[in-house]
Amino acid sequence: MPRGHRPARRPAVERGQRALAARLKRHQSPPAEEAAAPPPGRRPRRPNVPVVDLQDVYKTYAVGNIAVHALNGISFRVERGEYVAIIGASGSGKSTLMNIIGCLDAPTSGVYRLNGLDVRGLDEDTLADIRNHEIGFVFQNFNLIPRTRALANVELPLLYAGLNRSDRHQRALHALHEVGLRTRVDHLPSELSGGQQQRVAIARALVTNPAMILADEPTGALDTHSSAEVLNLFGRVNSEGRTVILITHEADVAAHAHRLIRLSDGRIVEDTANPDAVKQEKVV
Ligand code: ADP
Ligand code: MG
Repeated sequence: MPRGHRPARRPAVERGQRALAARLKRHQSPPAEEAAAPPPGRRPRRPNVPVVDLQDVYKTYAVGNIAVHALNGISFRVERGEYVAIIGASGSGKSTLMNIIGCLDAPTSGVYRLNGLDVRGLDEDTLADIRNHEIGFVFQNFNLIPRTRALANVELPLLYAGLNRSDRHQRALHALHEVGLRTRVDHLPSELSGGQQQRVAIARALVTNPAMILADEPTGALDTHSSAEVLNLFGRVNSEGRTVILITHEADVAAHAHRLIRLSDGRIVEDTANPDAVKQEKVV
């Protein structure tokens, strides 16, 4: 990129969401190679391979003629079934790290293996498939498709995975049931509370049976009660054996995870077990 010619800063996550919405508009049915992809839940999983394996990852942004070192040698692994909170002050590199873990951005140097697969050099289509199959994203602002019922929102990733209509329907219903929203399947996002919208988003994240749930400040837009509901849900999802990575700047949110990774100036300054993780307070 030429010096002094930087496009307006737009987080890669947002770009990813836009791409997702654009794909929904473009495809009424998935393209052939997507249709041929194995259905979610039947992909072979290698049990001993870490879900996330970062080795000496650096990320440097060029801002005019200044280099911003957002990540400075990050190495850690997340094993299957872990519940990890990534915590740190604003500007510490959390979003940058989340974009890399979510395959929305690539490291400047270092290696990232997702489920044993080195994602370096993969083309955008392959990365999009990996995002759709292996990662269940949950964002602060829910990112549901407006004027689209809860059920259709949850079916969306299955459309990309090539499932037929009736399978999509069954799986999406099941996922909504899992998050306690069986009676809300025909509601539009605008007809749901913030907490309920986030639960729809979590159902959408779970429906492809991804290797991990990656949540960026998932309670940031919620009141205390809804936050507790959402955090209880993550606790339950994790207790069922799913890997959860939660990004937050709030200590009381991070306290729900079993492991805390703290960032400061793009470095890991703490990586500790959290034996006193907050237990589920109340069933959703
Ligand atoms: P956090 O999510 O913890 O607030 P970020 O990952 O957003 O931190 O930012 C880490 C550092 O990298 C900050 O100094 C930020 O200004 C910088 N940064 C993040 N994204 C960009 C970008 N696209 N271009 C330039 N600098 C960026
Ligand atoms: Mg951030």
